[in-house]
Amino acid sequence: MPFKQLGLSEPLLRAIKEQGYSEPTPVQKEAIPIILSKRDVLAGAQTGTGKTAGFTLPMLELLSRHKPHAGKPAVRALILTPTRELAAQVAESVQLYGKFLPFKSMVIFGGVKINPQIVALRKGVDIIIATPGRLLDHVSQKTVDLSKVDFLILDEADRMLDMGFINDIRKVLAILPQTRQTLLFSATFSDEIKKLTDKILKSPALVEVAQRNISSSQVTQVIHPVDKERKRELLSHLISKGDWKQVLVFTRTKHGANRLADQLEKDGISAAAIHGNKSQNARTKALADFKDGTVRVLVATDIAARGIDIDQLPHVVNYELPNVPEDYVHRIGRTGRAGHNGEAMSLVCVDELEFLASIEKLIKKDIHKFVIKGFAPDPSIKAEPIQKKRGGGSNGRARPSNRAPASKGRR
Ligand code: AMP
Repeated sequence: MPFKQLGLSEPLLRAIKEQGYSEPTPVQKEAIPIILSKRDVLAGAQTGTGKTAGFTLPMLELLSRHKPHAGKPAVRALILTPTRELAAQVAESVQLYGKFLPFKSMVIFGGVKINPQIVALRKGVDIIIATPGRLLDHVSQKTVDLSKVDFLILDEADRMLDMGFINDIRKVLAILPQTRQTLLFSATFSDEIKKLTDKILKSPALVEVAQRNISSSQVTQVIHPVDKERKRELLSHLISKGDWKQVLVFTRTKHGANRLADQLEKDGISAAAIHGNKSQNARTKALADFKDGTVRVLVATDIAARGIDIDQLPHVVNYELPNVPEDYVHRIGRTGRAGHNGEAMSLVCVDELEFLASIEKLIKKDIHKFVIKGFAPDPSIKAEPIQKKRGGGSNGRARPSNRAPASKGRR
């Protein structure tokens, strides 16, 4: 089915063609016509499914069907995301797909100076892509007018709740017009998400897309059992022996990410760490260096990696398994995208076997275990409990500390 049949007009079809997409992905096929019929939508779709285009394209289409208000553009569409990286990536998509349309879009997040944002807002924008905290800073300074918003999208809503953004979201909702179309995307559906959707969506259409990357045979998953102390050595060995040029490595903690990146550098493997304690500039630079091949290894925590969108990323390594099983799915979804093959490997020590069991239960399959020669775990080592991150939320998830109260200036 070509994109044309979904009801998108020429400027969008041209932009899609430039991207080289030959046909819509399942989530696009389902969501685009429903969104164009102006219904609210509750969508279960993860990164890697093409969800961003799935909501960006119909949003642009709808905006283009209505004459803009006379004079300076007013904010008509608002997209909220949990992280700066995701906001930046969504903004990139909006620009890309909206290339042949006259709309102005703008990304708003914390960690960077607010004044340039104020200047840009003053000139007028049609579409805002924002993280909730900084957007509210603008609301309280009266530097943004959201009274004309008729299109609201919450992207990765589950993450936003996990990161403690619920009150911020409520505050934003309270100042938006009641008559609007709302779309909510979430990879998981907890009770909290259900409560939120009941409140903000009007008889929504449900769009549920299979977790492409789990069922997809394009991602090979493997577990390498190894002792904790030897993980770094094994990782260096795998990178060197496989001559990997671009590998995304996940650690559980920010400190662990820094330490691992330093150690890899000492092993002669160029590496950078990306996490919430780094400045936005440092994060942007690390990502750019990784994308252009200046650094071979990007070590990331789960939160920082959200929204990292790299086509053809061939290798993802779980240096440590996540204690939230859904995060495993998000992590491996970074590879095997858009028709390319990918490999997701996990270095698992005896302490993590419980995490592994929860992951296998979630994905409903056993992951192949393969001991690398020379790295067999010492059977005499007993499992030790892994310290969970502080401040776990009500759903038992760890609350990422980049949303700690003291981080106001970095939102
Ligand atoms: P997303 O799930 O939005 O993060 O998108 C995942 C990747 O799929 C992005 O790199 C998009 O550029 C790509 N993509 C989106 N739609 C299509 C499509 N119809 N055909 C091929 N690739 C696509």
